[in-house]
Amino acid sequence: MKYNIAVLDGDGIGPEICAGAIKVLEKVAQKYGHEFAFSHYPIGGCAIDTFGDPLPQETIDGCLASDSVLLGAVGGYKWDNLPVDIRPEKGLLRIRKAMELYSNIRPAKLWKSLAKASPLKYELVKDGVEIIIVRELTGGIYFGERGSGTGDMGDFAWDTEKYSVKEIERITRIACELAVKRGKKLVSVDKANVLESSRLWRKTVHEYCAKNYPQIEVQDVLVDNMAMQIVKNPSQFDVVVTSNIFGDILSDEAAQVTGSIGMLASSSLGDTKRGLYEPIHGSAPDIAGRDIANPIATILAAAMMLRDSFDLVKEYAAIEIAIQKVLDEGYRTADIMEDGKTQVGCRKMAELIAEHI
Ligand code: NAD
Repeated sequence: MKYNIAVLDGDGIGPEICAGAIKVLEKVAQKYGHEFAFSHYPIGGCAIDTFGDPLPQETIDGCLASDSVLLGAVGGYKWDNLPVDIRPEKGLLRIRKAMELYSNIRPAKLWKSLAKASPLKYELVKDGVEIIIVRELTGGIYFGERGSGTGDMGDFAWDTEKYSVKEIERITRIACELAVKRGKKLVSVDKANVLESSRLWRKTVHEYCAKNYPQIEVQDVLVDNMAMQIVKNPSQFDVVVTSNIFGDILSDEAAQVTGSIGMLASSSLGDTKRGLYEPIHGSAPDIAGRDIANPIATILAAAMMLRDSFDLVKEYAAIEIAIQKVLDEGYRTADIMEDGKTQVGCRKMAELIAEHI
C-alpha cells in the first residue's frame, strides 16, 4: 500500500526528530512492503519567517490532501514577542481546526527499562505502565458559555460544562477503536455523582458501547478517584476516555508518572482516518541543532499513525519492540541517561531503532 504523509517539521529540534521518525518509517516500509511518500510543509516560526503566517494555505492544503500528518514542534525565542495571532503556536491551533480534529490521544507509557526514572516507587511501576487517555478536545467547559458580573457577594464569574450526546458518542467511538486493538477494556472518567453533564456522559458511553462495541468492557471511575489511582496503581489502566477538562489535567498527571518528556507521543483525530501525530514536548530551542534531542516521542507518534490511521497494527508493534530492544541494550539519549548506559545522539538513536525493525 502507498500512504502519503505530510510532515510539518516546525522549529527548534523539529527537523531533527522528524528525520529520525522518517528513518524508522522507511525501514518499516522496506520490511513490510509499504510505500510512504513524505511531503514537507512549513508551520510555526519558520513559516512566519518565509510567509508571514504560522500556517500558510499551502500547508493546510497539503495536510488535507495527505493520508495523515506528522508534526515535529513549533516555537522558539525568536518569535516569543510577536502578537498572539501570528505566534508559532497559533499554527497548531489552526491546523487542528482545519483538519476538524476533536480528540486528543495521549499515551503515558513508562518503559520497563526506564522504570527508575518514574517519581513513583519502583515496586508500583517495575513492570511498566501504559495509560492511554482519550480526551475530548473541542467541547465542554473550555468552549462553553461564560461570563462575569457583580452581585451580593461582589464580583463573580462563571463557565459552563455542556456536552451533547453526539459529542460524547464520537469521542467514545475513537476510544473504542483503540480499545478493540488493545485489551478490549475502557475506563470512562466523569463526575456523575455531582454533575448533570457527567450523568449524560456516563449513560451515553454505556449505551454507545453496548450497541456498537459489545466486546468492550466499560468501567466508570470518578475523576477524583482516577487522580488518586494514577499515582497509587497506574498499571491497572489501559484506554481511558474523558471530557476536555478532566483529560487536560489527568493526561499531565499520567505523563509525570513516566518521568521523561522526550518519550511521550500524542495524536489528534476527527471523523476521518487522517490524524495529526506529534510528540507532547515543544521545540526545545535550548538543545536545537546539537544532535542531542531524544527522537523516541516522535518515532512513537509515527508508530501511532501506522496503527490508528493506517490500521498497520503489526508494524506499530514492530516499532515498539525495536525501541524496547534498544533501551534494553543500554542506549540512551542525554535526557534519559543513567550510570552505566551508553549515550547516543538523536540521529544514532533513530538509526539503532530502525536497525532493530
Ligand atoms: P519544551 O518541551 O520544548 O522543553 C522543555 C525542556 O525539555 C527543555 O529543557 C528541553 O530541552 C527538554 N526537551 C524537550 N523535548 C526534548 C527531547 N525530545 N529530547 C530531549 N530534551 C527535550 O518546552 P518549553 O521549553 O517550555 O518550550 C519551548 C518552545 O516550544 C516554546 O516556544 C513553546 O511555546 C513551544 N512548545 C511547542 C509545543 C508544540 O509544538 N506542540 C508544545 C509545547 C511548547
